[in-house]
Amino acid sequence: TNPIHVVGGGLAGSEAAWQIANAGVPVILHEMRPVRKTEAHSTEGLAELVCSNSFRSDDATANAVGLLHQEMRSLNSLIMATADKHQVPAGGALAVDRVGFSDAVTEALSQHPLITIEREEVTRLPPEEWKSVIVATGPLTSPALAEAVQAVTGEKELAFFDAIAPIIYRDSIDMNKAWFQSRYDKAGPGGTGADYLNCPFSKEEYEAFIDALIEGEKTSFKEWENTPYFDGCLPIEVMAERGRETLRHGPMKPVGLTNPHNPEVKSYAIVQLRQDNALGTLFNMVGFQTKLKYSEQTRVFRMIPGLENAEFARLGGLHRNTYLNSPKLLDETLRLKSHPWLRFAGQITGCEGYVESASMGLMTGRFAAAEALGKPITSPPLTTALGALINHITGGHLASEDEGPRSFQPMNVNFGLFPPLESMPKAPDGKRLRGSVKALAKKNALTDRARADLAQWMQSL
Ligand code: FAD
Repeated sequence: TNPIHVVGGGLAGSEAAWQIANAGVPVILHEMRPVRKTEAHSTEGLAELVCSNSFRSDDATANAVGLLHQEMRSLNSLIMATADKHQVPAGGALAVDRVGFSDAVTEALSQHPLITIEREEVTRLPPEEWKSVIVATGPLTSPALAEAVQAVTGEKELAFFDAIAPIIYRDSIDMNKAWFQSRYDKAGPGGTGADYLNCPFSKEEYEAFIDALIEGEKTSFKEWENTPYFDGCLPIEVMAERGRETLRHGPMKPVGLTNPHNPEVKSYAIVQLRQDNALGTLFNMVGFQTKLKYSEQTRVFRMIPGLENAEFARLGGLHRNTYLNSPKLLDETLRLKSHPWLRFAGQITGCEGYVESASMGLMTGRFAAAEALGKPITSPPLTTALGALINHITGGHLASEDEGPRSFQPMNVNFGLFPPLESMPKAPDGKRLRGSVKALAKKNALTDRARADLAQWMQSL
């Protein structure tokens, strides 16, 4: 069998190499460190954790990333097995001794008889003669390779920064205050004229909100990130600092909208939220990319009328991050449609986080190995964490015409990516559940469904 080439020995590439080799297919893993470094990595170890040492919640019954841990474990994940072995105490979270973890991953891959590790930078597009390649070079892909990829995807389709607006669970928005309407009731392609959720402000509410944005504590850019403020992507607090009226004339302009809860009074400003996934469970805050600290975002954005109890699937940010416009470019097994010998895995596909990146390495490795062995390739069902994440990357995200050059932004795994339950769990006496009891029962039901569906899928393999 021809070897499969994996480019990048980070979280995704290490897991992909492991999965391929364990399927009996040889692997050549190309890792550029220590020959060439990135701005964030400091060792030559494979699967180096560049920042926190946490894999987040390990609760597989009520947390989407905990569920992802469990699914990966059941698919023989090297990253998860090694994390479990090098765990350090962290309450309900799974945190690891980063050095022990990276050393053990490096050793497991170095000793595998089917894996060859080459310490070299891949500086051009991997050629077709390599037959099957997985590119897993991460958020800090080296410039030479990034340019080569960009040359085949088109300039707009490979971003070097993300400018992330917060995403909110639809069912946590107060519809006694918010309402559905598109500006001037305009129905765009596939739209109904009522595609946006609108949150209205009085003058007093607007002034207090602007004060909070300006005073809110911000995170700063690292030196190597430069200041990537570019067209249409100014952080919301920077706009507020430029003038108290700037937002009211920009993303918060109140024109073309009528509040059905109070049609006589004109709103002083309006925040719009746009549906973010095909399922309609998630809505993003239009134009609200931000460098406010996470705790400040929750506090300040809950001042918005209608969002007092908002639950955030993702908070906003602005980072150095190399990632593809995957829903457009990749097929459902993560192959580049225009160059199908190339697959992509990890953060470069538009997932976010160590675990998510490793999980996409796991799936991509399995897809590539199955292809090499002439076996059928199937994806896990959409109801599993793995399936939901692949769907987000390759198709579940709604593209939008009026959002500017691109709308796909990186995302952690979360329950908003899962198809809704067919029926809501009820109390033993048949009554409707409420509040936090209802929220927990829903998560339990989603993870139960995922477990059952993953087990069935694994049996079918
Ligand atoms: P990486 O783990 O970065 O692996 C990519 C590998 O490819 C690297 O080893 C790199 O050296 C190599 N490479 C790059 N270009 C080439 C080339 N041309 N040829 C050969 N090799 C190449 N996520 C979290 O969950 N928690 C955090 O705390 C966290 N902090 C982060 C902090 C920073 C500064 C950044 C940039 C990201 C952070 N992330 C964090 C996000 C992300 O999940 C991690 O970066 C994760 O490591 C991504 O996994 P990956 O395998 O896609 O990329």
